[in-house]
Amino acid sequence: MNDNTNFLIEHNKRQSKDFLSPDQVQKREDYQRQHKTDVMITKCMDGRVNVPVITGIPMGVFAPYRSMGAVFDIGSPGFAPHVRGFYEHVRGRRIKEGEANGIVINTYHFSKGSRERGCKGFGFDTERACKCTKLLRGDFEEVYGKAHAHVYPVCVGVETDEDALVIHGEGKTLDVSEHLGYSEEDFRRELRLMFPDMKDVVLEDLLPLVVGNRAHVEKVKKEHKPIVELDHRESTIAVGRGFDWLHLVNHALIVGTFNVDWLHEVSVAAHIVHENLKREPELAAKGATLIASAPYRKPGVDAAVSRQKAMSMARAAWARVKKNEPGLLENFKLELLVGTLDRNTMLMDWIDVDPESFE
Ligand SMILES: [Zn+2]
Repeated sequence: MNDNTNFLIEHNKRQSKDFLSPDQVQKREDYQRQHKTDVMITKCMDGRVNVPVITGIPMGVFAPYRSMGAVFDIGSPGFAPHVRGFYEHVRGRRIKEGEANGIVINTYHFSKGSRERGCKGFGFDTERACKCTKLLRGDFEEVYGKAHAHVYPVCVGVETDEDALVIHGEGKTLDVSEHLGYSEEDFRRELRLMFPDMKDVVLEDLLPLVVGNRAHVEKVKKEHKPIVELDHRESTIAVGRGFDWLHLVNHALIVGTFNVDWLHEVSVAAHIVHENLKREPELAAKGATLIASAPYRKPGVDAAVSRQKAMSMARAAWARVKKNEPGLLENFKLELLVGTLDRNTMLMDWIDVDPESFE
């Protein structure tokens, strides 16, 4: 097993242990008791966009979805069930509990220090990335309703040099990095102006992301991240869902299966990893890993279906890397990890698979 694969397995164990620790369970429960709005986040495969890390919100609270450039096709067979599922979940809670809401956070990313540290998926064209995310937000409004009765979609930029959020509201944009002196009350007032039709209860659940981000940006500014750390350094290609535990900035490119041609995104991710390894001998020495994962909540059928899903994705992704990025396999030690994630424990159940058997 190469060092990278070994690290991933151990990291998952550590994260699961932390996730289940009394302190974390209490922190998560306290957060969720106070903030009941369900949050779905669409983001780029780029590992630098790590919303729980940059907002300080506990792991396992948000429902993350990743694709190349954060481009999502709501009508694609891979994404449509999730779009419907999120709404049905909120609606179900509404019927049961009387009041329930959802926020969809549609993100794009960019770097203020250098155009080339922006989104590779958009050829570093931030304007196009932002426009595309606004269109996606419009698509969500189209299906969830423009009155925002149950679910409110919001477009958010992530500036990856300082990890700052840029919230796009009605005719106004709020860049957290420019308001580090703001109090919670100041941010509340700003958000109220930016989202005049947002319910108070929803606004109160959007607020902790902004306030948490302000604290994180302050920390990042003090730390003075070296420039090399700001660029792509990923050596892991992660396919599927259930990567909350991965929780590391710049380590993995995560590809969901939320567009018709998701395998194309796998080849792009493989190409980026290949280039990273060629450029950095230190990364190359540790090797690279392709992970395929599917999460489940219940034992039995739910878990068994996830197992099949993970295997299918692994087979297809491995074949695509072999075909489109053969150098990654020939010149470096690329390994395959396939597993299912138990959502209740965040522990991966790894399946013993030999990619040679795929032929
Ligand atoms: Zn990107």
